[in-house]
Amino acid sequence: FDNLDGYIWMNGEFVKWADAKIHVLSHGLHYASAVFEGERAYGGEIFKLTEHNTRLHESADILGFKIPYSVAEIDAACKELLQKQGFQDAYVRPIAWRGSEQMGISAQNNRINLAIAIWQWPSYFDAAQKLKGIRLDIAQYCRPDPRSVPSKSKAAGLYMICTISKHAAEAKGYDDAMMLDWRGQVAEATGANIFFVKDGKIHTPTPDCFLDGITRRTVIGLARDHGIEVIERAIQPEELEGFEQCFLTGTAAEVTPVSEIGPYRFEVGEITKNLLDVYSAAVQPKKVMAAE
Ligand code: PMP
Repeated sequence: FDNLDGYIWMNGEFVKWADAKIHVLSHGLHYASAVFEGERAYGGEIFKLTEHNTRLHESADILGFKIPYSVAEIDAACKELLQKQGFQDAYVRPIAWRGSEQMGISAQNNRINLAIAIWQWPSYFDAAQKLKGIRLDIAQYCRPDPRSVPSKSKAAGLYMICTISKHAAEAKGYDDAMMLDWRGQVAEATGANIFFVKDGKIHTPTPDCFLDGITRRTVIGLARDHGIEVIERAIQPEELEGFEQCFLTGTAAEVTPVSEIGPYRFEVGEITKNLLDVYSAAVQPKKVMAAE
């Protein structure tokens, strides 16, 4: 991935993709002092751009560092890079990290760097597989207690258990893994939030120890706009037996139906399919009607 064409925005400059390098003694690499975002452009516009870049700032604040560019400046840089890359539909990845000026756990004087990369990333899960529903294993690692980790930050360090869990699931032939939380309640997938459907109502775990995804909030809003009740509550793994449908939400995953979680089976039903369509329509830029 380090040798694509085009440019990466790095600390205010457009650098050729292959030249966007950092030093091996970067604090972000050694001690995970890095936060990032995942955004998607549809039809040349980045969906919920300011919300994502605001969350990037908040993630950094939680880790105790300040990104030296305002949200408005990051918004502008993302837009300019999207144009320069020449994509209509693409994935946008801003990342901020502590640099290499000082080594050790303390890094008070290290530079805070910001880079943005944009590439074409069609569907996080294979498109055909997505419509049949993807298969999830149940992860061994649990989402930690928020007293142990900064759960509200989209911090690189929190993804260590996600990669381990996803790899373990893939080794068993699954597409992804569902993670429980430290109490043993259903939490989310390794990079997406989770929803269930039963008797025409949607149930989703309360995001008290994992990311309250921007897609999650968008989909909850769309479902309620369509008259579907959405209940946010603690969900026990034993309840999976009684749910009829299941789907994931995330910027990369969009709305992805789930057909299996360990021993449990789900249908790709009407509510899931409708929300998939409604979300796909909602992310498209609003066309301003020409005055007649
Ligand atoms: N949980 C995790 C662990 C994620 O990585 C993501 C993707 N950012 C989400 C949930 C969904 O967040 P969003 O809808 O804001 O992309």
